[in-house]
Amino acid sequence: MMTRPLPPHSRLIIRRFLFVWLPIFTVITAIVAVFIFRLSVNFSVQVLIFTTVALLLNFLALNTLTKLLHRMSEMPFLQIAEAAKLVSGGVTTARAPLETMPTSEAFRAAEAVNSLADKAGKDIAEMKKLERVRSEFLGNVSHELRTPIFSIQGYLETLLDGALEDKDVSRKFVERAHQNTKRLNVLLSDLIDISKIESGEMRLSFRYFNLCDIIRETIGSLEFQATQSEIELTSTCQNDQELMVYGDKERLGQVIVNIMQNAIKYNHEKGSVRVVVETRPQDVKVRIIDTGIGIPEEQKSRIFERFYRVDAGRSRSVGGTGLGLAIVKHILEAHQAPFGVESTLGVGTEIWMVLKR
Ligand code: ADP
Repeated sequence: MMTRPLPPHSRLIIRRFLFVWLPIFTVITAIVAVFIFRLSVNFSVQVLIFTTVALLLNFLALNTLTKLLHRMSEMPFLQIAEAAKLVSGGVTTARAPLETMPTSEAFRAAEAVNSLADKAGKDIAEMKKLERVRSEFLGNVSHELRTPIFSIQGYLETLLDGALEDKDVSRKFVERAHQNTKRLNVLLSDLIDISKIESGEMRLSFRYFNLCDIIRETIGSLEFQATQSEIELTSTCQNDQELMVYGDKERLGQVIVNIMQNAIKYNHEKGSVRVVVETRPQDVKVRIIDTGIGIPEEQKSRIFERFYRVDAGRSRSVGGTGLGLAIVKHILEAHQAPFGVESTLGVGTEIWMVLKR
């Protein structure tokens, strides 16, 4: 609770009464008295007139003062009500003037209205931002879905228009349509993952698991993809090494898969991807280092955003959905695991994270 000195308005009223009204009434009363005593009426009449005039003047002074005080005490509440009305009408910048509040009660009421206005302003700004993000997301989703669907439609229509009769062409077109259905499938499962994470539907199941097992499994599952570009996949995990970390095994596995897939996709032929694990007393730092194309300095901080791609054409041509790292970010944040990216254009990229032991 706030304690305040006597508010300026009350001080003003008292000062006015003492230094303006009171001297004026005193002077008038004195003049009247002098005038009456000069009259040749008897003493009791003089006293009667004098008392009546004095009473009248005092009554007038008191009446004016009461009215003034009344107006002054109403004013702040009118100001507060006006501010509240404006805020509820959508003018969230409206505020009750704290500096003119005459009492600590009015000050507190004004403060409460102002803090409500602050909150309403922030909430509305946040809602507008969410709405913008949501419509941007919907726009991106429709754009991403439209590309493979149009391709499939195009190939099927060409086939129906006669290409079906040509064995070579029809095979090529069916293969391309099939490729696009696979792309749709990947996109949909990424979309389902991200919407589950963002809506809080994805429950994480925390337990201890062997990180080296996950790394070995991931390397095994990506071997085929890597050998197509003659990329070497290695890790510092020794055979049968046990490195227990705490987290959701499946989701952290997905994180390592997504990062390693990128390290392969954005690599050069005959490049390499190394998974380095550094054991520390409380945690383990996992570094996934590639010898790929790298990321421009100014775009490094944006690669974890949904649908952000450094080179959209290259991403699509290697089957990217633009959602892989956004999923990684969400999962690592849910684990309160610090993560980051280091990269040099043309030399390679390192994505690192720190997991609890
Ligand atoms: P995508 O499906 O396009 O790969 P991601 O969310 O996984 O989407 O990654 C976002 C973008 O970040 C990619 O399009 C790519 O431009 C860039 N990127 C991610 N990882 C790497 C990497 N290891 N090397 C170079 N660029 C990368």
